[in-house]
Amino acid sequence: MGHMPSPNRAAGASARNSAGNLDRPDRQRWERGGDTEISERVERVRERISAAAARGNRDPGDVTVVAAAKFQPVSAILAAARAGLHDVGENYPQELDGKAPSIPGVRWHLIGRLQRNKVKIAVSRGALLHSLDGLALARALGRRASQAGTTAEALIQVEVTDRSAAHGVPAGDLPGFHAACQEIEGLRIRGLMVMPALGGRPEESRAAFARTAELARVLGPGSRELSMGMSDDFEVAVEEGATLVRVGTAIFGPRPHRSEGSHRSGR
Ligand SMILES: *Cc1c(COP(=O)(O)O)cnc(C)c1O
Repeated sequence: MGHMPSPNRAAGASARNSAGNLDRPDRQRWERGGDTEISERVERVRERISAAAARGNRDPGDVTVVAAAKFQPVSAILAAARAGLHDVGENYPQELDGKAPSIPGVRWHLIGRLQRNKVKIAVSRGALLHSLDGLALARALGRRASQAGTTAEALIQVEVTDRSAAHGVPAGDLPGFHAACQEIEGLRIRGLMVMPALGGRPEESRAAFARTAELARVLGPGSRELSMGMSDDFEVAVEEGATLVRVGTAIFGPRPHRSEGSHRSGR
């Protein structure tokens, strides 16, 4: 302990720091792999959203980033939360349920397809469902929420192109579907979600985003949330009116494989 701290060094920064040459590189490596890297990516995503909002004459404060966290470990989601992201999206209800106890204080979103036998998880975690696409599911959600004395919130996933595979409610059926959902006790429709075909070029999503925004305009004032845009095209989505962007790899980096993520969930 023969070391005396120099007078201009902050109190408490004593021998531990001067002897800390050894563990310093480790500490840096840990920070780069975790918090620092994620918080830098979050910062970059926020800057890009602000620029896109400016181009679209919008308030960036009207855009919520949903961290799309499928297969990501709890530690990465906690780092994103520390960087200020308090909305977390999962694709699989079991994965959400496994992680939720370790990640308090965030709002959960279910962004993948929901099977009717999993509505209980969505309701108990108070998750906003982004992918409502059928009346049977809508009724199951409303029933479960009513039993629990709460209200389930959902976005209707719409299909605005004529892709043969079903990716949501066809635009033409939306008014009828929305009206039917509004009759369901225990269910509140907050807006729309769209997921255009992944073409790799952000501009290819623009028409689908613009069309979805137009569809939401004619729904009631309580149904104007717009979940659109992912890592590749969230800027275009913000320009076109997105209020929720679902961003995964631009925040967390490449996704771990499914098995890795699910085994780690809940740790
Ligand atoms: C995985 C996923 C995202 C995020 O995708 P990234 O390209 O990693 O940003 C968004 N929405 C849904 C429905 C997803 O499944």
